[in-house]
Amino acid sequence: MPRTDSSIRSPKGTNRTAAAKKRSLVRNCSVDRTLSILSDAWSFLVLRETYLGARRFDQIQSVLRVPRSTLSDRLNRLTEAKVLYRVPIGESSRTEYRLTDRGLDLYLVMLAMLRFGDDWLAGKKAPPLKLIHTSCGHECHPETTCSSCHQPIDALRVTYRDGPGAGVSPAPSVPQRRRTGDIDTFQRARPDSVSRTLSILADRWTFLVIRELFFGVRRFDAFQERLGISTNILSDRLNRLVDQRILKRVKYQELPDRYEYKLTEEGRDLYLPLIQMLRWGDQWLGYQKPLILHHLDCNSDFSPVVTCDRCHTPLHPHHMRYISDKNWQN
Ligand SMILES: [Zn+2]
Ligand SMILES: [Zn+2]
Repeated sequence: MPRTDSSIRSPKGTNRTAAAKKRSLVRNCSVDRTLSILSDAWSFLVLRETYLGARRFDQIQSVLRVPRSTLSDRLNRLTEAKVLYRVPIGESSRTEYRLTDRGLDLYLVMLAMLRFGDDWLAGKKAPPLKLIHTSCGHECHPETTCSSCHQPIDALRVTYRDGPGAGVSPAPSVPQRRRTGDIDTFQRARPDSVSRTLSILADRWTFLVIRELFFGVRRFDAFQERLGISTNILSDRLNRLVDQRILKRVKYQELPDRYEYKLTEEGRDLYLPLIQMLRWGDQWLGYQKPLILHHLDCNSDFSPVVTCDRCHTPLHPHHMRYISDKNWQN
Protein backbone atom coordinates (compact mmCIF):
# COMPACT_ATOMS: atom_id res chain seq x y z
CA MET A 1 0.00 0.00 0.00
CA PRO A 2 1.45 3.40 -0.89
CA ARG A 3 1.91 5.76 1.99
CA THR A 4 1.97 9.49 1.37
CA ASP A 5 3.71 10.61 4.55
CA SER A 6 5.87 8.30 6.59
CA SER A 7 7.26 10.85 9.03
CA ILE A 8 6.69 10.33 12.72
CA ARG A 9 6.16 13.61 14.49
CA SER A 10 6.39 14.35 18.18
CA PRO A 11 3.15 15.25 19.89
CA LYS A 12 2.77 19.00 20.31
CA GLY A 13 2.58 20.64 23.69
CA THR A 14 2.76 17.45 25.73
CA ASN A 15 3.94 17.75 29.28
CA ARG A 16 5.14 14.30 30.11
CA THR A 17 6.14 13.18 33.55
CA ALA A 18 9.65 11.90 34.22
CA ALA A 19 8.29 8.35 34.41
CA ALA A 20 6.60 8.65 31.05
CA LYS A 21 9.77 10.11 29.49
CA LYS A 22 11.63 6.98 30.49
CA ARG A 23 9.23 4.83 28.50
CA SER A 24 9.90 4.51 24.80
CA LEU A 25 7.77 6.39 22.29
CA VAL A 26 5.40 4.45 20.07
CA ARG A 27 3.41 5.48 17.03
CA ASN A 28 -0.14 6.64 17.86
CA CYS A 29 -2.38 3.86 16.67
CA SER A 30 -6.09 3.33 17.23
CA VAL A 31 -5.75 -0.39 16.56
CA ASP A 32 -3.16 -0.76 19.28
CA ARG A 33 -5.43 1.14 21.67
CA THR A 34 -8.40 -1.07 20.80
CA LEU A 35 -6.36 -4.26 21.15
CA SER A 36 -5.29 -3.19 24.63
CA ILE A 37 -8.97 -3.51 25.66
CA LEU A 38 -9.82 -6.60 23.61
CA SER A 39 -6.82 -8.79 23.91
CA ASP A 40 -6.75 -9.51 27.58
CA ALA A 41 -8.09 -13.04 27.20
CA TRP A 42 -10.56 -12.87 30.08
CA SER A 43 -11.96 -9.48 29.12
CA PHE A 44 -12.48 -10.76 25.63
CA LEU A 45 -14.23 -13.93 26.84
CA VAL A 46 -16.49 -11.92 29.17
CA LEU A 47 -17.44 -9.68 26.27
CA ARG A 48 -18.16 -12.64 24.04
CA GLU A 49 -20.57 -14.06 26.62
CA THR A 50 -22.38 -10.71 26.89
CA TYR A 51 -22.85 -10.66 23.10
CA LEU A 52 -24.34 -14.13 23.38
CA GLY A 53 -26.82 -12.75 25.91
CA ALA A 54 -25.26 -13.27 29.37
CA ARG A 55 -25.91 -10.46 31.84
CA ARG A 56 -25.31 -11.79 35.31
CA PHE A 57 -22.12 -12.57 37.14
CA ASP A 58 -23.07 -16.18 37.88
CA GLN A 59 -24.21 -16.79 34.33
CA ILE A 60 -20.83 -15.70 32.93
CA GLN A 61 -18.96 -17.52 35.68
CA SER A 62 -20.69 -20.82 35.02
CA VAL A 63 -19.74 -20.77 31.32
CA LEU A 64 -16.17 -19.53 31.70
CA ARG A 65 -15.36 -21.30 34.98
CA VAL A 66 -13.12 -18.37 35.83
CA PRO A 67 -12.07 -17.56 39.44
CA ARG A 68 -14.63 -15.13 40.90
CA SER A 69 -11.98 -12.53 41.76
CA THR A 70 -10.71 -12.55 38.13
CA LEU A 71 -14.20 -12.19 36.74
CA SER A 72 -15.04 -9.39 39.11
CA ASP A 73 -11.81 -7.60 38.17
CA ARG A 74 -12.52 -7.88 34.41
CA LEU A 75 -16.13 -6.76 34.81
CA ASN A 76 -14.87 -3.72 36.73
CA ARG A 77 -12.31 -2.96 34.04
CA LEU A 78 -14.87 -3.25 31.23
CA THR A 79 -17.21 -1.00 33.21
CA GLU A 80 -14.43 1.55 33.71
CA ALA A 81 -13.67 1.39 29.98
CA LYS A 82 -17.38 2.23 29.45
CA VAL A 83 -17.92 -0.95 27.45
CA LEU A 84 -20.38 -2.31 30.05
CA TYR A 85 -22.61 -0.60 32.61
CA ARG A 86 -24.32 -1.90 35.73
CA VAL A 87 -28.08 -2.09 36.24
CA PRO A 88 -29.65 -3.02 39.61
CA ILE A 89 -31.67 -6.26 39.59
CA GLY A 90 -35.12 -5.36 40.96
CA GLU A 91 -35.00 -4.08 44.53
CA SER A 92 -31.93 -6.09 45.49
CA SER A 93 -28.42 -4.72 45.88
CA ARG A 94 -27.23 -7.05 43.12
CA THR A 95 -26.50 -5.79 39.64
CA GLU A 96 -26.36 -7.14 36.16
CA TYR A 97 -24.26 -5.97 33.22
CA ARG A 98 -25.39 -4.45 29.95
CA LEU A 99 -23.47 -3.29 26.92
CA THR A 100 -23.10 0.47 26.42
CA ASP A 101 -23.24 1.96 22.90
CA ARG A 102 -19.48 1.68 22.77
CA GLY A 103 -19.72 -1.98 23.86
CA LEU A 104 -22.39 -2.71 21.26
CA ASP A 105 -20.22 -1.09 18.60
CA LEU A 106 -17.26 -3.24 19.60
CA TYR A 107 -19.35 -6.14 18.35
CA LEU A 108 -18.53 -5.07 14.78
CA VAL A 109 -14.85 -5.55 15.53
CA MET A 110 -15.70 -9.05 16.74
CA LEU A 111 -17.67 -9.73 13.56
CA ALA A 112 -14.75 -8.69 11.36
CA MET A 113 -12.49 -11.04 13.34
CA LEU A 114 -15.09 -13.78 13.16
CA ARG A 115 -15.24 -13.49 9.38
CA PHE A 116 -11.46 -13.72 9.11
CA GLY A 117 -11.36 -16.74 11.44
CA ASP A 118 -14.19 -18.46 9.54
CA ASP A 119 -12.52 -17.85 6.18
CA TRP A 120 -8.99 -18.80 7.11
CA LEU A 121 -8.66 -20.53 10.46
CA ALA A 122 -11.60 -22.93 10.71
CA GLY A 123 -9.87 -25.59 8.59
CA LYS A 124 -12.17 -27.83 6.60
CA LYS A 125 -14.83 -27.84 9.30
CA ALA A 126 -17.89 -25.61 9.11
CA PRO A 127 -17.64 -22.43 11.20
CA PRO A 128 -18.40 -23.20 14.88
CA LEU A 129 -21.03 -20.47 15.13
CA LYS A 130 -23.60 -19.62 12.46
CA LEU A 131 -24.97 -16.11 12.35
CA ILE A 132 -28.55 -15.37 11.37
CA HIS A 133 -29.35 -11.78 10.47
CA THR A 134 -32.89 -11.39 11.80
CA SER A 135 -33.53 -8.24 9.71
CA CYS A 136 -33.44 -10.30 6.49
CA GLY A 137 -33.80 -13.80 7.96
CA HIS A 138 -30.72 -15.19 6.21
CA GLU A 139 -27.59 -16.85 7.44
CA CYS A 140 -25.08 -14.06 7.20
CA HIS A 141 -21.38 -13.65 6.55
CA PRO A 142 -20.27 -10.22 7.76
CA GLU A 143 -18.63 -8.13 5.07
CA THR A 144 -16.43 -5.05 5.45
CA THR A 145 -17.60 -2.32 3.08
CA CYS A 146 -16.79 1.30 2.29
CA SER A 147 -18.95 3.96 3.99
CA SER A 148 -18.83 6.03 0.83
CA CYS A 149 -19.50 3.64 -2.10
CA HIS A 150 -20.83 0.66 -0.04
CA GLN A 151 -18.61 -1.80 -1.96
CA PRO A 152 -16.55 -4.51 -0.22
CA ILE A 153 -13.07 -3.35 0.76
CA ASP A 154 -9.95 -4.97 -0.66
CA ALA A 155 -6.72 -4.08 1.19
CA LEU A 156 -4.94 -3.46 -2.13
CA ARG A 157 -7.43 -0.71 -3.01
CA VAL A 158 -6.87 1.40 0.11
CA THR A 159 -4.28 4.11 0.72
CA TYR A 160 -3.82 6.13 3.85
CA ARG A 161 -2.29 9.31 5.14
CA ASP A 162 -1.56 10.85 8.53
CA GLY A 163 -4.56 12.31 10.31
CA PRO A 164 -4.58 15.12 12.89
CA GLY A 165 -3.75 12.66 15.68
CA ALA A 166 -0.61 11.25 14.00
CA GLY A 167 2.60 11.28 16.01
CA VAL A 168 4.08 9.36 18.88
CA SER A 169 3.21 8.91 22.55
CA PRO A 170 4.90 7.12 25.43
CA ALA A 171 4.43 3.35 25.20
CA PRO A 172 1.54 2.10 27.33
CA SER A 173 2.60 1.00 30.80
CA VAL A 174 0.81 -2.34 30.40
CA PRO A 175 3.10 -5.32 29.84
CA GLN A 176 4.13 -5.34 26.19
CA ARG A 177 4.34 -9.10 25.86
CA ARG A 178 1.20 -10.90 26.73
CA ARG A 179 1.62 -14.24 28.38
CA THR A 180 1.27 -17.36 26.29
CA GLY A 181 -1.14 -18.62 28.94
CA ASP A 182 -3.37 -15.72 28.02
CA ILE A 183 -3.52 -16.87 24.42
CA ASP A 184 -4.41 -20.43 25.46
CA THR A 185 -7.25 -19.03 27.52
CA PHE A 186 -8.80 -17.67 24.32
CA GLN A 187 -9.50 -21.20 23.19
CA ARG A 188 -11.28 -22.15 26.39
CA ALA A 189 -14.90 -23.27 26.81
CA ARG A 190 -16.15 -22.47 23.29
CA PRO A 191 -14.10 -22.82 20.14
CA ASP A 192 -14.71 -19.84 17.95
CA SER A 193 -13.30 -17.95 15.05
CA VAL A 194 -12.86 -14.70 16.93
CA SER A 195 -10.56 -16.24 19.51
CA ARG A 196 -8.59 -17.96 16.76
CA THR A 197 -8.08 -14.57 15.09
CA LEU A 198 -7.18 -12.93 18.38
CA SER A 199 -4.65 -15.64 19.12
CA ILE A 200 -2.72 -14.30 16.10
CA LEU A 201 -3.17 -10.59 16.88
CA ALA A 202 -3.06 -10.62 20.67
CA ASP A 203 0.68 -10.97 20.88
CA ARG A 204 1.62 -7.31 20.65
CA TRP A 205 4.86 -7.78 18.71
CA THR A 206 3.06 -9.95 16.16
CA PHE A 207 0.42 -7.31 15.72
CA LEU A 208 3.03 -4.55 15.30
CA VAL A 209 4.93 -6.57 12.67
CA ILE A 210 1.69 -7.06 10.71
CA ARG A 211 0.86 -3.38 11.02
CA GLU A 212 4.28 -2.39 9.62
CA LEU A 213 3.74 -4.76 6.67
CA PHE A 214 0.60 -2.79 5.86
CA PHE A 215 2.76 0.35 5.97
CA GLY A 216 4.95 -1.27 3.30
CA VAL A 217 7.83 -2.55 5.48
CA ARG A 218 9.27 -5.84 4.19
CA ARG A 219 12.84 -6.30 5.34
CA PHE A 220 14.25 -7.48 8.65
CA ASP A 221 16.38 -4.39 9.26
CA ALA A 222 13.48 -2.08 8.49
CA PHE A 223 11.22 -3.84 11.03
CA GLN A 224 13.96 -3.51 13.62
CA GLU A 225 14.44 0.14 12.90
CA ARG A 226 10.72 0.99 13.00
CA LEU A 227 9.83 -1.08 16.05
CA GLY A 228 13.00 -1.16 18.15
CA ILE A 229 12.42 -4.89 18.51
CA SER A 230 15.21 -7.30 19.47
CA THR A 231 16.62 -9.64 16.81
CA ASN A 232 15.49 -12.87 18.46
CA ILE A 233 11.92 -11.69 19.11
CA LEU A 234 11.64 -10.40 15.55
CA SER A 235 12.91 -13.66 13.98
CA ASP A 236 10.59 -15.65 16.22
CA ARG A 237 7.51 -13.64 15.23
CA LEU A 238 8.39 -13.62 11.51
CA ASN A 239 8.94 -17.39 11.51
CA ARG A 240 5.70 -17.96 13.33
CA LEU A 241 3.79 -15.80 10.84
CA VAL A 242 5.34 -17.73 7.95
CA ASP A 243 4.27 -21.02 9.63
CA GLN A 244 0.75 -19.60 10.05
CA ARG A 245 0.70 -18.71 6.34
CA ILE A 246 0.17 -15.00 7.10
CA LEU A 247 3.54 -14.17 5.51
CA LYS A 248 5.70 -15.59 2.80
CA ARG A 249 9.46 -15.29 2.54
CA VAL A 250 10.70 -14.06 -0.82
CA LYS A 251 14.36 -14.02 -1.89
CA TYR A 252 15.43 -10.60 -3.19
CA GLN A 253 19.20 -11.09 -3.37
CA GLU A 254 21.68 -13.93 -3.93
CA LEU A 255 25.22 -14.38 -2.58
CA PRO A 256 24.56 -13.80 0.20
CA ASP A 257 20.92 -14.86 0.05
CA ARG A 258 18.59 -12.25 1.49
CA TYR A 259 14.87 -12.50 2.01
CA GLU A 260 12.00 -10.12 2.49
CA TYR A 261 8.52 -10.77 3.82
CA LYS A 262 5.25 -10.29 2.03
CA LEU A 263 1.67 -10.76 3.17
CA THR A 264 -0.09 -13.77 1.67
CA GLU A 265 -3.70 -13.50 0.55
CA GLU A 266 -4.70 -14.66 4.02
CA GLY A 267 -2.41 -12.07 5.61
CA ARG A 268 -3.91 -9.29 3.49
CA ASP A 269 -7.37 -10.25 4.72
CA LEU A 270 -6.28 -9.45 8.28
CA TYR A 271 -6.53 -5.87 7.11
CA LEU A 272 -10.31 -5.98 7.52
CA PRO A 273 -10.43 -6.71 11.26
CA LEU A 274 -7.54 -4.28 11.74
CA ILE A 275 -9.32 -1.34 10.09
CA GLN A 276 -12.48 -2.17 12.03
CA MET A 277 -10.46 -1.88 15.27
CA LEU A 278 -9.04 1.35 13.94
CA ARG A 279 -12.51 2.75 13.33
CA TRP A 280 -13.72 1.72 16.79
CA GLY A 281 -10.67 3.24 18.49
CA ASP A 282 -11.09 6.47 16.51
CA GLN A 283 -14.74 6.70 17.39
CA TRP A 284 -14.70 5.91 21.08
CA LEU A 285 -11.34 6.38 22.72
CA GLY A 286 -11.26 10.17 22.54
CA TYR A 287 -8.14 10.75 20.48
CA GLN A 288 -7.88 12.56 17.16
CA LYS A 289 -7.52 10.21 14.20
CA PRO A 290 -3.89 9.12 13.71
CA LEU A 291 -4.63 7.74 10.23
CA ILE A 292 -7.12 8.52 7.45
CA LEU A 293 -8.20 5.73 5.08
CA HIS A 294 -8.83 6.43 1.41
CA HIS A 295 -10.68 4.10 -0.96
CA LEU A 296 -9.20 4.13 -4.47
CA ASP A 297 -12.32 2.61 -6.08
CA CYS A 298 -14.49 5.63 -5.22
CA ASN A 299 -11.68 8.12 -4.57
CA SER A 300 -13.09 9.02 -1.14
CA ASP A 301 -11.95 8.93 2.45
CA PHE A 302 -13.97 6.28 4.18
CA SER A 303 -14.80 4.46 7.33
CA PRO A 304 -15.20 0.65 7.22
CA VAL A 305 -18.79 -0.55 7.75
CA VAL A 306 -19.67 -4.16 8.62
CA THR A 307 -22.68 -5.25 6.58
CA CYS A 308 -24.72 -8.39 5.88
CA ASP A 309 -23.57 -10.10 2.67
CA ARG A 310 -27.18 -10.99 1.85
CA CYS A 311 -29.17 -7.77 2.38
CA HIS A 312 -26.17 -5.37 2.45
CA THR A 313 -27.42 -3.40 5.48
CA PRO A 314 -25.13 -2.57 8.42
CA LEU A 315 -25.16 -5.22 11.15
CA HIS A 316 -26.21 -4.57 14.74
CA PRO A 317 -25.90 -6.99 17.71
CA HIS A 318 -29.62 -6.72 18.46
CA HIS A 319 -30.46 -8.11 15.03
CA MET A 320 -28.41 -11.29 15.24
CA ARG A 321 -29.26 -14.82 16.25
CA TYR A 322 -26.77 -17.65 16.66
CA ILE A 323 -26.80 -21.31 15.82
CA SER A 324 -23.95 -23.14 17.46
CA ASP A 325 -22.31 -26.32 16.34
CA LYS A 326 -23.91 -29.11 18.37
CA ASN A 327 -20.48 -30.39 19.37
CA TRP A 328 -20.14 -27.69 21.95
CA GLN A 329 -22.89 -26.65 24.26
CA ASN A 330 -22.66 -25.04 27.64
ZN1 LIG B 1 -15.53 3.41 -1.61
ZN1 LIG C 1 -29.21 -9.42 6.11
